Amino acid sequence: MEKKRNNKKKCGGSKKKKTTSDQSDAIKSITDWLFVGSSSSPPPDDFAVTINTASLRRGEKLVFELHSHSNRSDGFLSPSKLVQRAHTNGVKVLSLTDHDTMAGIPEAVEAARRFGIKIIPGIEISTLFRVESGSEEPVHILAYYGASGPAMYDELENFLGKIREGRFVRGREMVSKLNKLKVPLKWEHVTRIAGEDVAPGRMHVARALLEGGYVENLRQAFTKYLHDDGPAYATGSEPKSEEAVRLICKTGGVAVLAHPWALKDHVSVIRRLKDAGLHGVEVYRSDGKLEVFSELADTYSLLKLGGSDYHGKGGRNESELGSVNLPVKALQDFLKVGRPIWCEAIKATMRTFLEQPSDSNLSNILRFDRARILKGSSSWSCGGELMDRCLAIWLTNDERENDEFEALRLKLSCVFISSKGSCVTVGA
Ligand SMILES: [Zn+2]
Ligand SMILES: [Zn+2]
Repeated sequence: MEKKRNNKKKCGGSKKKKTTSDQSDAIKSITDWLFVGSSSSPPPDDFAVTINTASLRRGEKLVFELHSHSNRSDGFLSPSKLVQRAHTNGVKVLSLTDHDTMAGIPEAVEAARRFGIKIIPGIEISTLFRVESGSEEPVHILAYYGASGPAMYDELENFLGKIREGRFVRGREMVSKLNKLKVPLKWEHVTRIAGEDVAPGRMHVARALLEGGYVENLRQAFTKYLHDDGPAYATGSEPKSEEAVRLICKTGGVAVLAHPWALKDHVSVIRRLKDAGLHGVEVYRSDGKLEVFSELADTYSLLKLGGSDYHGKGGRNESELGSVNLPVKALQDFLKVGRPIWCEAIKATMRTFLEQPSDSNLSNILRFDRARILKGSSSWSCGGELMDRCLAIWLTNDERENDEFEALRLKLSCVFISSKGSCVTVGA
C-alpha cells in the first residue's frame, strides 16, 4: 500500500514538471503576441499599448475576456466604460462582441490604449439553424478578428446591416404580441432604451417591460414573455448559421459557437457548423468547464473557449467581466489558429486597397485604430510607409517577414496618402 502510494507520487511529480514547461512555452507564445505593437521598443510611442511586463513576469494571471457587450448593442456600459471595468478586473485582453455590429470597436481600442489592454475586435452574429424537420433554432456565432479587423469589411457590414434591420421588424412584432397579451408596452419606449442608431433586441424589450412595471425583474421578462418560443418571442431576418460561419471564415475571422448549452440540439449544430468551417465552441463559463461540450470539442477538433457574456445588467445572476478562467493552453491554441488567419486578412485588405486605392478602401485599413496608424506621418506619405506602420502595430517581426508583404509593399509605394487619411493622386 505504502509502496503504491510512493509510485503514484513519483508519477504525479514528473507529470507536473512537464506541465510546467508546457505552461511556460504557452505563456511565452501568448505574451509574444500580447506585446506586438507595444511600446517596449524605441521610438517611444504614446499611442502604443503598454502592457506591464514586470507584473506578468511575477506570474500575474493572463486574463482574457472573450465575450462581452456594450451599449452599441444590448449592453449597459459604453465601450470605454466596459474597457475601464475590464481593467479594474485585471483583464489583459478583451474582446468586445456586440450583437451584429462592430460600431463600438474604435472607441474600445482607443480606451484600451489608455489602460494597457489589448482589444480583439469581435461580433456575436444572430443566426437561425434549420433542423431537418424544418423547425428553426436561434444560434449565436462569435467572430474574432485580428487588430486590422475583417477583410472585405463592406461585405460583412452589408450582411450585419440586414440583420440589424430585421431587429427593428422583430422588435415591433414582439411589442405587438405583448399588446395582444394585454401588456400595453409602447414601441417608442423600446427604441428610447436602445438609444439612437442601436438595433433593438430582446434585452431592450425586457428593460422596457421592467421600467413600465409589467414585470418584477429582467429575468421574469424572459421567463414570462420573451424566451425562445415564448408568447411574445419573434424571430427577425437572421441568416442561416452556416452562411454566417462561411462569411466569418471568408473575412478572416475565427468562428466560435456561443453558449451551446442554450441549444436544444447542440450535437447537430456543432456537427453541421464544423462542416461549414467553425473553429471553436464555448465550453468555459465562470462556474468552470462544461465536460459535455469539452468532449464534443475534442470529437470535432474544435477550440475550447468561453467568456462571461457580460452585459452590465448588474444583479446576482450575472457573471462578472473577466470571471471566466481560460487555461493558457486554450489561449495558446486560440492564437495558433487565429494568427495565421488574421495575417491573411491583412494581406487581403492591403491587396484590395492596391487594386483600388480609394478613400473607402483606405478607411477599411484605418477603421479601428486610425489615430495611431496615421500618427507621425508627414503631410502625406506613400502606401509602402502606411503598410510598414500598420504591420509594425499588428504583427510580430516573424509574421512581417513574408514575400507577399514585401511584394505588396513595393507596389503600394506608388500610392500616396495624406496625413488625414485620404488618397492623394500625384502626377497624372
Ligand atoms: Zn446580448
Ligand atoms: Zn453574448
